[in-house]
Amino acid sequence: CGVFGIYSPQPADIAWLTYLGLFALQHRGQEAAGICVSDGERFLVEKDLGLVSQVFDETRLDKLRLGTARVGIGHVRYSTTGSNLRFNAQPLTVRTNKGILGLAHNGNFVNAREMRQEMLDDGVLFQTTNDSEVLLNRIARLSKLDLVEATARAMKEMRGGYAVVLMSRTQLLGFRDPNGVRPLCIGQRGDGAWVMASEPSALFSVGAKFVRDVAPGELVWADRDGLHSLMVIPGHQPTACSFEWIYFARADSFVDTVDVHEARIRMGQALALESHVDADIVVPVPDSGIGAAIGYARASGIHFDYGLYKNPYAGRTFIAPTQEARELKVKLKLSPTSAVRGKRVVLVDDSIVRGTTSRQIVNLLREAGATEVHFRVSSPPIKHPCFYGIDTAARKELVASTHTIEEIRAMIGADSLAFISEEGLRASIRGPGVCLACFNGQYPAGIPLENDLNKLA
Ligand code: 5GP
Ligand code: SF4
Ligand code: MG
Repeated sequence: CGVFGIYSPQPADIAWLTYLGLFALQHRGQEAAGICVSDGERFLVEKDLGLVSQVFDETRLDKLRLGTARVGIGHVRYSTTGSNLRFNAQPLTVRTNKGILGLAHNGNFVNAREMRQEMLDDGVLFQTTNDSEVLLNRIARLSKLDLVEATARAMKEMRGGYAVVLMSRTQLLGFRDPNGVRPLCIGQRGDGAWVMASEPSALFSVGAKFVRDVAPGELVWADRDGLHSLMVIPGHQPTACSFEWIYFARADSFVDTVDVHEARIRMGQALALESHVDADIVVPVPDSGIGAAIGYARASGIHFDYGLYKNPYAGRTFIAPTQEARELKVKLKLSPTSAVRGKRVVLVDDSIVRGTTSRQIVNLLREAGATEVHFRVSSPPIKHPCFYGIDTAARKELVASTHTIEEIRAMIGADSLAFISEEGLRASIRGPGVCLACFNGQYPAGIPLENDLNKLA
């Protein structure tokens, strides 16, 4: 998911700015979008299933256009927990004895089930099946406290990987899990407005300058007195999600100050050094394989070529929730160019999850006359599910959890197959610590108890 928030000391077109921010974060979730705004009195929310541009036309945005608004948050969703239903769209809102609160959340809490059960036993009612509501309810239940204190308290109770923006009528809050698994950064506009977003690209889209990342375990808030900070959960080893650099974040973003495009190039270079193969051209699977393919070409000296056309009007395939939809969408999205005819091709992609897309792409290249197809992947084999908000599927669907590399090679029909090593990946990101749990099963921020573990089976 993607989150965005803005607090403006002067009245501003908050709905419009939030819309622009969400538009820049569209790649982080395409199932639902929503915006919530307040002018200090009124508190409005509009949300629905669909892309930002489908949910918000002029008329719908106008409904949110309070001439004197100062605070707003927004969310783009792809479902990890909670099904893809309208009532699960965010921002979520709740009425407390401190007024209305709105919340937008990226990530997953690993203890949401236990917390939900405890709260149900206490008579708390839930309107959604999504774990963000557990957090919002915790904060609401603590609303005798000041909102910052209540939020800090709730942060300490939740475990997992999360980045959250939260608003009241007069404040914007943002916070990040103690491991910094999910990203969140802060920017500021020339008119003084504070902006918080999953990626810097969204700050720039509203004319804000990057100020800094929210630190792991930190709570920040903006109000009429400016920007404030409280280190709520200090001292954890940061373990940012490596998938942000591999795949999820935009190529023009940087995550925890590490440039995404450059990291992808380094991954491709590492891959070329680790698993060189004689070939005629290097071809990326667009768009997610482009950075790594550039790096592979540079390090190997093999020419980069445009071997796959991507229909720019097709969305990201993996976001389509069913297997059938994903398969149909591959052809809709990709077709080979004449560059591959008679050529030995190094095909570079960011990841193999289920293997179905990869198989179809290899097949497309062979049909178009490629004489050899050598598949290179800029992430290690994904063997374990993510519990921190990236939908890499249940373990049984992860082809690398049940197959050897040689079996996967045969399945996708490639002449050779190689994945980047964990060390190669770590060195390419050059970040602080990174989470590699979906590759090595070492979960830095805990795993869910009982039921959810059937996802592991
Ligand atoms: P596969 O061959 O595993 O079906 O698909 C791999 C390709 O689809 C890669 O290009 C990757 O970008 C994308 N992809 C497919 N499914 C997922 C998923 O569940 N999560 C992520 N992160 N990427 C996926
Ligand atoms: Fe990211 Fe994988 Fe860790 Fe999930 S398990 S947070 S996808 S690195
Ligand atoms: Mg891809």
